[in-house]
Amino acid sequence: MDFHALLGNDALKQRLSVSLSRGQLSHCYLLSGPVGSGKHTLARLLAAAMQCTAASRPCGQCSQCRKALSGLHPDVITVDDPERKTIPVRLVRDTCADLYIRPNEGSKKIYLFPRAQDLNSQGQNALLKCIEEPPAYGVFLLLAEHPEQLLPTIRSRCVELSLSPLGDALLRSALSARFPDASSDALHSAMLRSGGYLGQAIDLLSEGTELLPQTKAFAEAFCEGNAGALLRVLTPMERLKREQLRPILLQWTELVSSAATSRSGLPAIGPECKKIAQSRTDAQLLHAVEALQNAITLTDANAGTAHICGMLCVKLSES
Ligand SMILES: [Zn+2]
Repeated sequence: MDFHALLGNDALKQRLSVSLSRGQLSHCYLLSGPVGSGKHTLARLLAAAMQCTAASRPCGQCSQCRKALSGLHPDVITVDDPERKTIPVRLVRDTCADLYIRPNEGSKKIYLFPRAQDLNSQGQNALLKCIEEPPAYGVFLLLAEHPEQLLPTIRSRCVELSLSPLGDALLRSALSARFPDASSDALHSAMLRSGGYLGQAIDLLSEGTELLPQTKAFAEAFCEGNAGALLRVLTPMERLKREQLRPILLQWTELVSSAATSRSGLPAIGPECKKIAQSRTDAQLLHAVEALQNAITLTDANAGTAHICGMLCVKLSES
């Protein structure tokens, strides 16, 4: 099986295979790259490789591999609290204590930090203590979109695995296999917009095909360009919870920014996107994107949804 489940990144995979065959694995890896670049896939594969009992690791077949790949291995521990913006220091301290309890069934005890850059400096200093001199079975996999936010003292103790975008041919074939019905325009657009990162391209194509009902209504109202039409869409949304409002706003932002970029020659990702691009000027579309991004920031800052929807109605009808 080796590392082929991670597409592209040949040099990196080769490097890992050589380290594995020589038994020269590090106890701390920093997996860096933007959203959708394969950090999570690589982390699962690495965890499997470290626990695998076969000669050629990761084999993908043994029970250690299967558990690690499916995220069910008791000795592959995720350290995160998705409810919190910052990873609580308490979790890092618990990890440091847990590190001295021997692995349950694997040969290693692997701690996976899915968003290491979201540790504050206190958390990072606590982590530093764990990674300085762990027991021989202790391994840390730090995933980060923004590795520059980690302390230099942490980075210097990690082997950094930086994920690269995929080449066009590889990306196109991976996307066509997953979205056999997508038009070549939609594929092309997703490839360009994703910057070559498969996960982002998949998200773009999935969004393009499945607009939320509120997004369809928004697209129509926004094209009409009057406050009354927008009010009819936004007023019922005032009753939503913040966590329900956020994905809607994200999709609207994506739709309007895609419409803005399609005006500079990129193919539009769907009929709604095309219609929006035709209904407004570049400046108006940018103004709308800013208003929507501002609304997302307010949502994250716990502003009330009624306030956010009211603000959006004003800003979007003036754009
Ligand atoms: Zn295996």
